[in-house]
Amino acid sequence: MDQETRVVNDTLPRFEKSHGKSEAEIRRRILKAVFEQRMRPGERLTEEQLATAFDVSRTVVRQAMARLAQDGILEKLPNVGSTVASPSRKQTRDILAIRKMVEPEIVRSLAAAPSGPAVARLRAHLLQEFDARKRGDRGTLVRLTGEFHLLLAELAGNELLTHLMTGLQALTCLAILLHAEREDACPPDEHGTIVAAIEVGDGEAAAAQMLHHLRHVEKDLHLDRPEPESALAWLRGSERERI
Ligand SMILES: [Zn+2]
Repeated sequence: MDQETRVVNDTLPRFEKSHGKSEAEIRRRILKAVFEQRMRPGERLTEEQLATAFDVSRTVVRQAMARLAQDGILEKLPNVGSTVASPSRKQTRDILAIRKMVEPEIVRSLAAAPSGPAVARLRAHLLQEFDARKRGDRGTLVRLTGEFHLLLAELAGNELLTHLMTGLQALTCLAILLHAEREDACPPDEHGTIVAAIEVGDGEAAAAQMLHHLRHVEKDLHLDRPEPESALAWLRGSERERI
């Protein structure tokens, strides 16, 4: 088992020691843990815990956590510190609304000039998804299906877009843990249909398939249900009933 695999197989606070990691590397590893659903929404993270886990200074950890908070992946709470984000149903609807605007255009642009190397990378990625599904390796499968969407953004050659998609995808992973009945990855076969449309240069079909896919993901999240009542709100309500 290589260093990378050992790191992602461990949940906090048992990250492998990784001497001299940069702020970007720490962020990447935390995002990877989110993509594999190894970090739960609301999980508390402290600078001290991460500094020990990564064997770096608290300053480096603070910078990484500040960037993740800027992107909405971590939430800073007074007197608590930082917790992994817990996107509400409304926030998740907003995230999916952006994804439905952006991602069909990404695949449309890729299909407009399908390159052999790009299609080969997408095909290789689909093969990895297939293998993880066959092995029943759920954590890897969830990460790979999320990374499929990031690979499309990367192949579109727009760094800002890739950054935006990384945040949106991480929040979608957390929303799935909170709101979906099944903590499942993207539905099987739909990624393959999108790649096939890109490969033959059919932009309209690729965009339509991506929209269909994201609607499928959204449907599984049951976002039309009411927000769960917070314990504090419930306590206030039950207090009023007694009066
Ligand atoms: Zn997908």
